[in-house]
Amino acid sequence: MIRYRIQPSRPEAHLFSVTLTIPAPTPEGQVLRMPAWIPGSYMIRDFARHVVSLCAYSNDVPVAVAKLDKDSWQVEPCAGPLQVSIEVYGWDLSVRGAHLDTRHGYFNGSCVFLQPLGHEDQPVEVDLVAPEGTAYATWRVATGMPRLTGGEWDFGRFRADNYDALIDYPVEMGHFEDGRFEAGGIVHRVVISGHSGTDMERLLRDLKPICESQINLFGGTPPMQDYLFMTQVTGDGYGGLEHRNSTSLMCARADLPRRSDAPDKLRDSYRNYLGLCSHEYFHSWMVKRIKPEAFTPYDLSQENYTELLWAFEGITSYYDDLTLVRSGKISQESYLELLGTTISRVARGRGSKKQTVTESSFDAWTRFYMQDENSPNAIVSYYGKGTLVALALDFTLRRLSNGTKSLDNLVQLLWQRHGETGMGVPEQGVQALAEEMIGQSMQAFFDLALYSTDELPLAELLLDAGVEINWRAPISHADQGGKPATGTTPLNLGVRVTDDPAGAKIQVAFEQGIAMAAGLSAGDVIIALNGVRTDARKLDDHLQQFLPGDEVEVHAFRRDELIRVKLRLEVGEASLAYLTIKSDGLTELGKNWLNK
Ligand SMILES: [Zn+2]
Repeated sequence: MIRYRIQPSRPEAHLFSVTLTIPAPTPEGQVLRMPAWIPGSYMIRDFARHVVSLCAYSNDVPVAVAKLDKDSWQVEPCAGPLQVSIEVYGWDLSVRGAHLDTRHGYFNGSCVFLQPLGHEDQPVEVDLVAPEGTAYATWRVATGMPRLTGGEWDFGRFRADNYDALIDYPVEMGHFEDGRFEAGGIVHRVVISGHSGTDMERLLRDLKPICESQINLFGGTPPMQDYLFMTQVTGDGYGGLEHRNSTSLMCARADLPRRSDAPDKLRDSYRNYLGLCSHEYFHSWMVKRIKPEAFTPYDLSQENYTELLWAFEGITSYYDDLTLVRSGKISQESYLELLGTTISRVARGRGSKKQTVTESSFDAWTRFYMQDENSPNAIVSYYGKGTLVALALDFTLRRLSNGTKSLDNLVQLLWQRHGETGMGVPEQGVQALAEEMIGQSMQAFFDLALYSTDELPLAELLLDAGVEINWRAPISHADQGGKPATGTTPLNLGVRVTDDPAGAKIQVAFEQGIAMAAGLSAGDVIIALNGVRTDARKLDDHLQQFLPGDEVEVHAFRRDELIRVKLRLEVGEASLAYLTIKSDGLTELGKNWLNK
């Protein structure tokens, strides 16, 4: 039995102490490696860089250790048992990292557990040990890892089937609020850290139908024995990472339901949080159990390339909000608004004309996960475009099968063929299964949707549901679309700006915008229009003083140099979408789509 012991040994210094015991180390010298990345987040992170010390012992005698490369070590040949102790620095408060201070501890196994090469398939026992000292006497533990000793929320001994499972059970320690509900016959626990003041009863009530809707979609039985939603609340965080029977989420305090909220109303930020929960829960099937062949098994030492992230993230993103409307948590209008913002997001940047969604998947490691100021002009998101491909696929399947099949049936088939069996999905596997399901070629659809940058025929497809796409120009620099415009359409520089003490700092200069054409760049701080001071907050209103065709002098700082450019003002291009239901209402297909 491989054993680990982990203790927050010096919370004030953000150090975890972790000991790995291998009963029978590899005779030629055990190799140990820290993962280079964490499944679900496709970027090389080299977690070994946070290992601040490492020493090895065999029967209390030190054993020499040599570093092999940035992520691995080899210990001298020795008789078992071999004990390897490391100290790991945890100061990354994200769902992908490890974080420890005097308030709480959180870690992903990828950040703290050495991988004993050659022993990865063996079962593992883990002792989760509380920090020493009375200050930590009331700390509790939340994890999806199966428990061997202690009561619920206690520190104690846990187990995992193998290394792959071990690193798929993130752990939270400290003080947290908790709640539970049942869905699909299993217990779902909810843990919230970070003084949220959440209306827990409301949250439990809202999550339950979302989980039930997805369980029903996949045949009525959850693929796990229990489930844990773990949320770390901060001032302005947002993000989530999926695991086999849990998810780690981050959100802003204001995203969670408050006791003062009206019971029948979902604030937009809470709607987004429920969408995030829905997204990660859907991953319990799609990507945690139905996986690309390229991930079976994961190679944690390097990039694992696949063109299929459009399916695993796109189909999941499509169902996250769709589940909200299908489970009655949001109205049809609210769902169409969310879909409108996704269409807008993809249409706004020129990247969608340059990169296909399969290229976006393949290059996730260095492009989607390493975005810079030019990304909207250069790449397309496999989340956003992937959602639209899933929508188009859903409607195309309905059309080609005369309404007898939909994407629901395709994900069910994916589950039967690849989820229940554990067989990875080949790179062309989604297309093959779709074609098998409806008994005809879909080459033209997949060529267009996956391998070209041509526009998807969304407007035409959505008419089948009785829904129209309308296009309009942005009414502010922060406008995300989704809703009709209100008031007059102001002039737009074609930039995204953010606050700066000196003025309005350009975050993104869109390729089609007049600011870029005039020579303004990301990083420039616009300080005045026609000699009058401006900033990010005032910019939209300031532009209201002009008419299309007016020439305006813009003063900006680039580095420390003052630059002046002249712009001829224009209304922004009609790149934002909003969806409306036609006057005769949703069609039968439309009702079936949203009411399932
Ligand atoms: Zn996801």
